[in-house]
Amino acid sequence: MQDREKDVSMGRATAAIHRGGLGTPIYGEVSVPIFQTSTFGFPSAEAGAARFTGAEPGFIYTRMGNPTVHALEEAVTALEQGAAGHATATGMAAIAAVLLGLLGQGDHLLAGDCLYGPTHTVIDRELPRFGISATFVDTADPARVAEALQPNTRLLFVETPANPTLKITDLAAMARLTRERGILLAVDNTFATPRLQRPLTLGADLVVHSLTKYLNGHSDVLGGMVIVNQVEISKKIRRFLNLFGGTMDPHQAWLILRGVRTLALRVDKAQANAQKIADFLEQHPRVEWVRYPGLSHHPGHDVARKQMDGFGAMLCFGVKGGLAGGRMLMNHLRFFTLAVSLGGVESLVQHPASMTHAGLSREERLAEGISDEMVRLSVGCEDVEDLIADLDQALQGIP
Ligand SMILES: *Cc1c(COP(=O)(O)O)cnc(C)c1O
Repeated sequence: MQDREKDVSMGRATAAIHRGGLGTPIYGEVSVPIFQTSTFGFPSAEAGAARFTGAEPGFIYTRMGNPTVHALEEAVTALEQGAAGHATATGMAAIAAVLLGLLGQGDHLLAGDCLYGPTHTVIDRELPRFGISATFVDTADPARVAEALQPNTRLLFVETPANPTLKITDLAAMARLTRERGILLAVDNTFATPRLQRPLTLGADLVVHSLTKYLNGHSDVLGGMVIVNQVEISKKIRRFLNLFGGTMDPHQAWLILRGVRTLALRVDKAQANAQKIADFLEQHPRVEWVRYPGLSHHPGHDVARKQMDGFGAMLCFGVKGGLAGGRMLMNHLRFFTLAVSLGGVESLVQHPASMTHAGLSREERLAEGISDEMVRLSVGCEDVEDLIADLDQALQGIP
């Protein structure tokens, strides 16, 4: 559990570096040790029993909690200004814990119509097996969300900025709709990171992360987290994870915590690069369109300005020549690795229609705004001159 008052006296970059530790170091160590142990010995039979009832604090078994994992949970929870956080094996495990830990037979889920591909697939194709129905709605328009609410709607799940279209949802407006009806609002904050957006402070009840992306930031480990604003919800998520087992390993937690320490440096640099790249692409003769929340013509620009501290480092665009032109571009870039995933220090490029969102039908993709020619960039921390020169040479190659 976090002491929220502590965060008030600390800036966000300071919190990313100082929150989440052992409290009392063992040898004065500056880095949190990796407690690579599956189980924890009890000092006595009575103490062991007291840990199980919760009468005494202390670790029992790593699936149920581990000091290294806890340090990461504390750090990210502080950044999101939440009440508690639960680390998971992957981002999808975090999303599964929210959907299956909080919803059941007969419940209705309302979800944004533009989501990470596997999230869309889970909601659309897997949840019905558990008797959970779902509707997808354009969350950029609060009036449509209000219309789509049903008497049995229990949860609204949104992603903003959304993957890959960068659609922006007004989170305070969503919270106004859900709060008074007792509906939970869950936000996938992977693209923005708590550096740029803190949904719990805007009225959300839950935040999920793929820690695999910006929070870790080095494209070398998977992880996820659920951060909540209430103890009651926290208990349900914890119970689900303890029983279904999608929890995090201590070595994974240690690697991700190391990434969290430099979150501010990386996100600030990457988004400064992204804005310059968006401006460059906008005026390039071989580029048809650019979508980036930092561009004033982006439909969500004003909402993004209001609820975010920056526009992030993800953008997408269409080149002249459609899919063939986009393929040519992707095959000729040198500093943008052709790979899915995002949020690492290195820049990546991918093609949503044939890669991350290939699991959807073409009609579903077009409904989400994912056209065949769309190319997505995850802008990294390289020198922006190199990135722009690279894009320029690859664009020149398109006939
Ligand atoms: C990557 C991603 C996920 C899934 O995370 P994994 O760690 O790959 O399981 C969920 N949501 C968004 C927005 C993502 O980018």
